[in-house]
Amino acid sequence: MTVQPFTPLNADQDGHIWDDSEQLLCCAVVPEAPNVATFSFVAPSGAMFRYEPGQFLTLELPVPGGTLWRTYTISSSPSRPLNISVTVKAQPDSMGTRWMLDHLKPGMKIKASGPAGMFTLPTKRSRKYLFISARSGVTPTLSMTTYLFDRGTDIDAVVVNRARRPNEIIGRQNLEHMASRVPSIKLHFIVEEDDPYRVWTGLRGQLNQIMIGLIANDYLEREVYCCGPEPFMNAVREMLIALGYDMDNYH
Ligand SMILES: Cc1cc2nc3c(=O)[nH]c(=O)nc-3n(C[C@H](O)[C@H](O)[C@H](O)COP(=O)(O)OP(=O)(O)OC[C@H]3O[C@@H](n4cnc5c(N)ncnc54)[C@H](O)[C@@H]3O)c2cc1C
Repeated sequence: MTVQPFTPLNADQDGHIWDDSEQLLCCAVVPEAPNVATFSFVAPSGAMFRYEPGQFLTLELPVPGGTLWRTYTISSSPSRPLNISVTVKAQPDSMGTRWMLDHLKPGMKIKASGPAGMFTLPTKRSRKYLFISARSGVTPTLSMTTYLFDRGTDIDAVVVNRARRPNEIIGRQNLEHMASRVPSIKLHFIVEEDDPYRVWTGLRGQLNQIMIGLIANDYLEREVYCCGPEPFMNAVREMLIALGYDMDNYH
């Protein structure tokens, strides 16, 4: 399939917002970590994308044997509305996500529905955030942090991601790029084990009460967004409740 020619933005297209009756055209596939890739899409009509950071798309994946519908958080930011991305991780027995990693290439079109979801930044503007994630649960953090970074004022975000190993940290380069340019974006990675023959100077182990105090000593004042495997989210929730955190500010 051929890639559509580049269409420059013009007055007609300004304000033309993508809706899910139009298929998405895959424009890039970027490997992020083992079995993880970011797929970026444009609208062939030149429409722009409008969504809230933290919302998701549902993709229709034409796997052999029938269509599979899979939901992925949008990992791009609405502050960059010309394209939209999802970052997906295939587990060993995956069918849908594995199909994407093996078969979905730039130039192919795919049906998607959405955006949808209520895991979004508060409408009442909070100034201080603590984004806690594990593994591919980092995807809403990528969108929210990029959005705050692009907006450029009054950002105060502490980002914590736990990965199995350093080489499995998803979105590391993007997060490091933003944190290196905005002093009030603080970045912390926690790993379960080191990469062989590589030095790791970051944190190791479980995110615990001592670690959270070292990472963000003002965590009680922060709006917390947590995303990851269920046991991880349960552990974070229990930890915050035990620390007297106001769970009205927990998402
Ligand atoms: C709101 C939301 C946001 C999400 N965001 C992301 C994201 O950003 N990135 C991401 O990678 N994932 C995300 N997910 C998870 C994603 O939607 C998929 O559920 C996940 O990727 C697994 O799909 P798969 O096609 O890889 O695996 P599947 O093929 O669905 O397999 C998953 C497991 O289910 C089993 N299974 C599959 N079909 C059957 C069946 N018919 N009967 C019994 N067992 C079965 C498989 O053996 C396997 O163990 C999100 C999910 C939700 C709900």
